[in-house]
Amino acid sequence: MNIAILPGDGIGPEIVAQALKVLQCLDEDFNIETALVGGAAYEASGHPLPDATLALAKKADAILFGAVGDWKYDSLDRALRPEQAILGLRKQLALFANFRPALLYPELAGASSLKPEIVSGLDILIIRELSGDVYFGQPRGIRILPDGQRQGFDTMHYSESEVRRIAHIAFGAARKRGSKLTSVDKANVLETSQLWRDVMIDVSKEYKDVALSHMYVDNAAMQLVKAPKSFDVIVTGNLFGDILSDEAAMLTGSIGMLPSASLDANSKGLYEPSHGSAPDIAGQGVANPLATILSVAMMLRFSLGKPEQADRVEAAVKKVLAQHYRTVDIATPGCIQVNTQQMGEAVVAALAH
Ligand code: NAD
Repeated sequence: MNIAILPGDGIGPEIVAQALKVLQCLDEDFNIETALVGGAAYEASGHPLPDATLALAKKADAILFGAVGDWKYDSLDRALRPEQAILGLRKQLALFANFRPALLYPELAGASSLKPEIVSGLDILIIRELSGDVYFGQPRGIRILPDGQRQGFDTMHYSESEVRRIAHIAFGAARKRGSKLTSVDKANVLETSQLWRDVMIDVSKEYKDVALSHMYVDNAAMQLVKAPKSFDVIVTGNLFGDILSDEAAMLTGSIGMLPSASLDANSKGLYEPSHGSAPDIAGQGVANPLATILSVAMMLRFSLGKPEQADRVEAAVKKVLAQHYRTVDIATPGCIQVNTQQMGEAVVAALAH
């Protein structure tokens, strides 16, 4: 099995190094190759997603991605900015289904910004459509109006087949969990959302065992902080999912805990932490590597057909939390504070015993 490793920028290389240690101590016959992506690739070759990196990602069975971006690239042409690498990979590899579990480990209940009684036991899954919506819609641009002022514009659209495809993924996932699916849209205002809702209702006829409900995105944002445990699986479009999944991440204490998977129709996937490159802490060795390590677990389960190894990695993460090891973002009184590398080593040690 071929695994492409794309560490990227900022804390990307630091956290991916720890995830790689975990992968390598599983004693599996993986063929691992690394390539530059994002700002690091731009510096080396003038493009954030060089042809060689794209070719490696295409031939791999799974991709482990760190993070890309740095404020120093903000003045570059949009096509050359590091973030275009991840958008390009999603588009080129047809990664349309993004899974972001938001799971609160009991040991971290105190690290959440919400009261423990509101978040304890939280276990929700956000499924975000990843390859359509206003992020990819054309036309887009900044144009000059007849009165001389500039106008920015983007185009939101979803085709019926795009919605149907993510709906089947979401109903299938809900069926394997609590059989409750909330479809989030803005159908009271947007035509795109009206079609989204109509198609969700249509697909629900094939999944009579799953309870489908609908919620406007503004209410969903509110309910996520008011009563997050009322959700089981949420399915939504690219824009709304981008925002809601970060909100859900914070319920669990730190964005540094949350893995994600982006899958194509054949379960080939790109796995990455839900957070970005965190330039504010890059190079300090303090980043939490657990989201990336848990992304490895998702990779083992979804793309590499190794569910028992995925269980082992997740159990090792639970064990280090129970042993009170904490990086600074999840530190609680009385914990054993560790750096990025020490956290990686603690997970490797937990796997070995
Ligand atoms: P961010 O997720 O990088 O950071 C937000 C906050 O969370 C920061 O305070 C950061 O220090 C903290 N944080 C993030 N990951 C952490 C970890 N593992 N351990 C401890 N703390 C952590 O978001 P941002 O600051 O808005 O963006 C920074 C850069 O990342 C930007 O260039 C942005 O475009 C890029 N970005 C990339 C991706 C990606 O590669 N998929 C996703 C989001 C943002």
